[in-house]
Amino acid sequence: MIFTYMLGIELTQQCNLDCRDCYKGDSKNVFITKEIIEKVFDEVKAADILLLTGGEVHLAYEQLKMVLDIAKEKGCYFGACQATINGTIYDKRIYQLLDDYFGENYEFYISSDSFHDESIKRIYQKDVEDSNDPLHPKSLNDVLKNLEKNYMHEKCVGDQGLPSHLINGGRARNLDCPKYEFDATGYYYQEGKEDCYAVGPILFIGADGYITDGNSELNSREQQSIGHLNKGKIIEQIKQGGIQVKTTSIADFRKFCWNIMQSYFSYEEPHYIFENNKMQKVDRAKDIEYIQEIKKATDLGNHGFEAFQNGTFKDFLVNFPYDFSSYPRDLSLIDHNKKLNK
Ligand code: SF4
Repeated sequence: MIFTYMLGIELTQQCNLDCRDCYKGDSKNVFITKEIIEKVFDEVKAADILLLTGGEVHLAYEQLKMVLDIAKEKGCYFGACQATINGTIYDKRIYQLLDDYFGENYEFYISSDSFHDESIKRIYQKDVEDSNDPLHPKSLNDVLKNLEKNYMHEKCVGDQGLPSHLINGGRARNLDCPKYEFDATGYYYQEGKEDCYAVGPILFIGADGYITDGNSELNSREQQSIGHLNKGKIIEQIKQGGIQVKTTSIADFRKFCWNIMQSYFSYEEPHYIFENNKMQKVDRAKDIEYIQEIKKATDLGNHGFEAFQNGTFKDFLVNFPYDFSSYPRDLSLIDHNKKLNK
């Protein structure tokens, strides 16, 4: 039995947008199957967070229903749910499913980098006049305006639930996102009692059955994975290719996972990729400028929160002690070491 910090499930590889240099690659007509989902929930019995991704989650209502039905049938527990969407499609049924399963504990992340803006303009501006799409987004701006109306669930408004978030970065891997190479965030594991394993920080299952990483490219799945569901039990493949961690309790393991996530997001060492279905450490130059920005943003968040708690938030804003004039970075200064796909 596996407990994981974050279980990522790619419902589909199909997407209605075609963002330049989307790190997943071109949209594919691939949807997760019942067989894959059953194999996952035969082993994975609990996760702090269920992460739903695509492609575009809104194109996979049937698959989402299947995931939640099978999870319920097999007695799985999730603390909360996060879904990454592009914000251009709205399907009420998706929210009903999530409502029924998670109550108030789910949230959406909407990618908001410049590639999404370009892609929305390219795809939607053409025939928006006779479109039946109730959102009619002509640009990322429209998507943002629709955010509160459509994605902020009634129960999620204010402090009663989880708000929707915007990701400034998205899946584009070059210009405004500094991650230009694949980095594997999993697979660390800890042995518990009686065939019980903790795995983290993420266990990601592709719609194609690969046990991979949320950042892996669709066309390089075999190389960028720790195995495949057809090859046997997930935990056996993780034990063969992952890294064993010796923490003393599940709480410590969670802390370890949290630190790995932080170092990944701040683009600091260590960096791992998959090679021959094993996690391999690689040397990579630090992106100093990006690390500084992340530190500045973290610092800002901490100080803002402190000020909020002390009732001095207004003063904090008036005497705002941070200079973000160069943020986001001047894109022309970035060394584009890869050609754009589109
Ligand atoms: S970045 Fe996201 S929205 Fe854009 S093409 Fe890729 S999966 Fe679709």
